[in-house]
Amino acid sequence: MIYLDNAATTKLKKSALEAMLPCFTENYANPSAVYLAAGKARRVVEGARDVFAKGLNCRREGIFFTSGGTESDNWAIFGAAEAMSKKGRHMITQQTEHHAVLNACDALRKKGFEVTCLGVDSEGLLDPDDVKRALRPDTILVSVMYANNETGVLQKIDEIGEICKKNGTLFHTDAVQAFGHLDIDLEKSPIDLLSASAHKIGGSKGTGLLYRKLGVDLPPFIYGGGQEMGMRSGTENVPGIAGFAAAFEDREDAAAVTELRNHMTDRLLGEIPGCILNGRREGRIPGTINVSIEGVTGESVLMRLSSLGICASTGSACTSQSGEPSHVLKAMGFDDRRCNSSLRFSLSSENTKAEIDETVDALKDIVEDFRGMIN
Ligand SMILES: *Cc1c(COP(=O)(O)O)cnc(C)c1O
Repeated sequence: MIYLDNAATTKLKKSALEAMLPCFTENYANPSAVYLAAGKARRVVEGARDVFAKGLNCRREGIFFTSGGTESDNWAIFGAAEAMSKKGRHMITQQTEHHAVLNACDALRKKGFEVTCLGVDSEGLLDPDDVKRALRPDTILVSVMYANNETGVLQKIDEIGEICKKNGTLFHTDAVQAFGHLDIDLEKSPIDLLSASAHKIGGSKGTGLLYRKLGVDLPPFIYGGGQEMGMRSGTENVPGIAGFAAAFEDREDAAAVTELRNHMTDRLLGEIPGCILNGRREGRIPGTINVSIEGVTGESVLMRLSSLGICASTGSACTSQSGEPSHVLKAMGFDDRRCNSSLRFSLSSENTKAEIDETVDALKDIVEDFRGMIN
């Protein structure tokens, strides 16, 4: 199998598995218990918190473990709405967000909040000046993703964050796709709230984190036994958290993945007539490529790739289920034909050049085949 769908999920890293295994077999105590063994489990969780605090250059008290990116996004958005509703009921986001953000914003709209959903240009980029223009005295939150999950395009996070800071507005970023692939310094970056997920970086599914800057008012998300400093109750997912931290420490070599991605991009654009890149070429995360190929549908190409043991996708895992054209590519102004002929390849450091070449060669044959059938 050639796995090129790392934006959907990643294979568990060996280092993550090794960190997780003892939490199932020996170190299985409830971290909240009082005996010695519980202290050991507690140290796993707190050690993981230290790993993230050090790696992100932030206070350890700013890290809250959650069940994943979706929960972190929901907590940031609903939490900010609750904490700040006295100040106002207006929020700003943008059209290419993940549905964890878009649907949370929709839910708030139904509760009487006003949400401005900004557009992007044909390269997938949000103009920070558009954020500036959309800000109002009653704007309580701006939520803009760090990197897009379908195209890999990076937004101008620091610029947008500075604009929010000047306006006294909270700034949340869904950093699930960028986290662990790019260096993020939370001491320097004007980010108030940040979401991340373990299974996108070689950790296990069902684990994530929300970072909160000191002084940001956010209510607890889940009430119960008071875990996670009383902010997110529920017995900690000790194995998941241990694996998340191990995967984060064992971060991939971004330069190597970028080189592999550039090689694949060059070959796709150079050797397949009518193949165009979706999203800007520079300013993207290392592993993600999104192309449209004239005269074929992404779905049918995927089937053929799949029969050869090659895993890619048409867009996000969620939209490919619904059969709807990608909301991300639509927001970039592309017509249905370009959207429906799109393919996403998301690479990791597990991939080799030989795998990439095999995939491009197969793709060339498939496209020629489909085109021959039409003509
Ligand atoms: C995968 C993903 C999420 C959801 O994370 P889960 O841990 O699967 O809930 C949110 N945002 C983006 C950008 C993602 O890629």
